[in-house]
Amino acid sequence: MSSKILVLPGDGIGVEVADQAIRVIDKLNELGLDATYEKELVGGASYDANGEPLTSEVLEKAKQSDAILLGAVGGSKWDDVERSKRPEAGLLGLRKELELFANLRPALVFEALASASTLKDEVVSNLDIMIVRELTGGVYFGQPRGIEDTSDGKKAVDTQVYYDYEIDRIARVAFDLARKRNNKVTSVEKANVMETGVLWRQVVKDTHQDFSDVQLENMLADNCAMQLVRNPKQFDVIVTDNLFGDLLSDCAAMLTGSLGMLPSASLGAENNGKRHGLFEPVHGSAPDIAGQDKANPIATILSLSMMLKYNLNQSELSDKVESAVQKVLSEGFRTGDIYTSENQTLVSCSKMGDLIIERI
Ligand code: NAD
Repeated sequence: MSSKILVLPGDGIGVEVADQAIRVIDKLNELGLDATYEKELVGGASYDANGEPLTSEVLEKAKQSDAILLGAVGGSKWDDVERSKRPEAGLLGLRKELELFANLRPALVFEALASASTLKDEVVSNLDIMIVRELTGGVYFGQPRGIEDTSDGKKAVDTQVYYDYEIDRIARVAFDLARKRNNKVTSVEKANVMETGVLWRQVVKDTHQDFSDVQLENMLADNCAMQLVRNPKQFDVIVTDNLFGDLLSDCAAMLTGSLGMLPSASLGAENNGKRHGLFEPVHGSAPDIAGQDKANPIATILSLSMMLKYNLNQSELSDKVESAVQKVLSEGFRTGDIYTSENQTLVSCSKMGDLIIERI
């Protein structure tokens, strides 16, 4: 049966990079993918057309699809729109309604781009790690929260809360992924000073009993930040909570050098062998270069590659896409954001799409 992909280009360069990913889907269909796709509005584009950043019709289509590919949302045009109707609310609405609790952010350094990192080549060359961040719980959502006046002055409260089921399900995602990679999970918390850290470590240990073939290590979050910069290649899969994951995934991302290269996936719970998945580049709508055919489409094409691997069960096609990207880079083709020397060939967004498709 053919897979149904919902494409939500969004705003700014989201439209340009999503177009290139769609062309890759067309190419993969010639190679046996068997996927159909439909384009819909989200974010500012949806607000302009419908007065809402995410309509109930599009949400329903998202629920019915096998996977969603998103470009980016946002732009200063919508700065004065009320918070609940801003472009970002469309994205948050999708994550919430589809219960996308697991955020996967790979930090992958292509050999040809190792010099774009601020770290030494030998530290990052061929780096391939995956950060699995819990996305729907923890201190960003815990109650009580707020700022109140007290007799001692103003008091601000945030609350870190985790239930055991939330830790168990994210740990399962991490162990599962490790089995498809290098079989090692590093679970990161601060069990030395936080109760949620103590529960986190205990639950991950219990869940590990179902994955005893996977190597498990525990690491304190502050040490993990240091190790990511000192020797990132020691890691395979890192699993951590919402707050630590926010920080550590940005830190790991910078090991790779450019925002235009970073894919991501957000996954929901497994149901009858299927799970919701939203695949999107880490970058935003880049208003400064929007509409100029200058954006790097690789983050979005690599997000499509994650979709092939994690939601559509097409690992071979996913590998083909990644090899094509690797080849284009090693032949010296670069969009403006990763162009670093005159020996390289500067290309547009659509030309980068052409070059990758030719090599798939
Ligand atoms: P941004 O990621 O859009 O851009 C930051 C810088 O990186 C810009 O100079 C941009 O030109 C460059 N850049 C980003 N992606 C690129 C690509 N693929 N190729 C080449 N260069 C690229 O971040 P920002 O400027 O802080 O935000 C712009 C808008 O995007 C804001 O409205 C913000 O809210 C929104 N945003 C959306 C998402 C999302 O949709 N997931 C994420 C971050 C920001």
